[in-house]
Amino acid sequence: MANLINNVKDNKTDDELHPIAHDVEAVNGPLNRELFEAKKKIYPKRTKGNFRTFKWISMILLLGFYYIGPWIRWDRGPTSPNQAILVDFEHSRFYFFFIEIWPQELYYIAGLLIMSAFALFLVTASVGRAWCGYACPQTVWVDLFITVERWIEGDRNARMRLDKAPWTFRKIYLRVIKHSIWLMIAAATGGAWIFYFMDAPTLFNQLIHFEAAVVAYGTIIFFVLTTYTFGGHLREQVCTYMCPWPRIQAVMMDVDSLVVTYHGTRGEPRMSVKKAKKATATNQPVGDCVDCNMCVVVCPMGIDIRDGIQLECITCGLCIDACNDVMDKVDKPRGLIAYDTINNEKIRQTKRDATHADGIRWPWHNYRNYVYMGLFLVVGFVMLYSLSTRDRFAINALHDRNPLYVQLSDGSIRNSFEIKLLNMQGKLRHFVIYTEGLEGASFTTAAGTQTDGKVIITIEPDRVKAFRAFVDVHKDNLPAGKQTDFKIIAQEIDGNETGIYGAKFHMPEPAK
Ligand code: SF4
Ligand code: SF4
Repeated sequence: MANLINNVKDNKTDDELHPIAHDVEAVNGPLNRELFEAKKKIYPKRTKGNFRTFKWISMILLLGFYYIGPWIRWDRGPTSPNQAILVDFEHSRFYFFFIEIWPQELYYIAGLLIMSAFALFLVTASVGRAWCGYACPQTVWVDLFITVERWIEGDRNARMRLDKAPWTFRKIYLRVIKHSIWLMIAAATGGAWIFYFMDAPTLFNQLIHFEAAVVAYGTIIFFVLTTYTFGGHLREQVCTYMCPWPRIQAVMMDVDSLVVTYHGTRGEPRMSVKKAKKATATNQPVGDCVDCNMCVVVCPMGIDIRDGIQLECITCGLCIDACNDVMDKVDKPRGLIAYDTINNEKIRQTKRDATHADGIRWPWHNYRNYVYMGLFLVVGFVMLYSLSTRDRFAINALHDRNPLYVQLSDGSIRNSFEIKLLNMQGKLRHFVIYTEGLEGASFTTAAGTQTDGKVIITIEPDRVKAFRAFVDVHKDNLPAGKQTDFKIIAQEIDGNETGIYGAKFHMPEPAK
């Protein structure tokens, strides 16, 4: 591709290659005429400050939870797994501390996703790309990889020097250590992921003895490759080119959303401290920006926020920390770069010290945020209520389709069912099962104990009990029509739960 471009460029004049650019330049001045801009490696400089501290806390909490999560134990009794967070594919369950979700309760997962979506809408509409800056896995792992790189190779200038230096023993040594630690982090990331799907200590034991399933090793290899490539090498390019989220977020933000903003009216005309002194002496305008470039060199996305709001900005706030530090040193007020809204910045362009009376306002002014918050709370309360009052027992009966009924030798009509009883509690439970709504019906099954047209069934803790059952009605008691509704009822003997299944009884049409 590069050769093709070079050939094309070699055989044509610049204006032939860029006929439209030529016209545009005639009106707007020079454009960058390169077809592709080479990737510039970014060497983010270390910084200190409130946002950096917040990022450390966020990183420690998120990574700590991710890596330690599968090892947290939670006692659910002898019949259930004691792993606090577990996606148990084998038994089709999801465990999260005291919450246990069965396959038929997957709507709770849907509810959780809906809540996450509203939370994300709320965060984006009020504080812009805060998710990207502090909590997105890509950002968190890139931050970790850069921290390791800085720890081994030094800060920005040392890393730049090392990159340009010839391949000496020291350079090879540092690179081997760096990449080895990156690979170890990547392996731990993949390892932690699979521990969420099986009992962690058991799986760990199987892994180190090469007894785990192939899919476990495959998943770890996949995570090693993706974490190492995305976190160590692609870094900011994943956010800029691969992730759709920055584009989607753009539609959720408006002029009242907080974004990291350079206050140009205060900062411009920018100049060095030395030049500023001279300009002040001759009564020329001087901005607060001392053009030190610190906000640029600390930026993990490699952008200059002074150029305005940019798609690449993940609103991590590191440039705010860097600039505040500079402002402290030059004895000027902090906040030349700050979280602010587009509306406020626009007003400040005409009045530097604008206040609320001039139209300065904050995200809580936006009613849309209250709608998101309301929806989040409503879904949350519904989920909580539903979780705290949900049944821990269910009955399901599947009617035999072929044939729908059989006629017995004494003239009775028999309908057969496959009944499933779900005991969602971690204890042995007993139920009495009978029918209602069918006069003279007898209910029989091969399972359980039969007494008085009722059946007593025992279900193991956290298990599903399936059995065949027959409902017989004598020909003298048959109701009119081809079918009639009735109920199969399962009533707990030593508890208060009752399951009712609305079923149909099929029979031959009476002779006319
Ligand atoms: S411009 Fe500032 S807030 Fe935006 S990504 Fe760079 S350092 Fe973070
Ligand atoms: S850190 Fe502040 S003073 Fe330095 S260049 Fe950036 S905006 Fe200007």
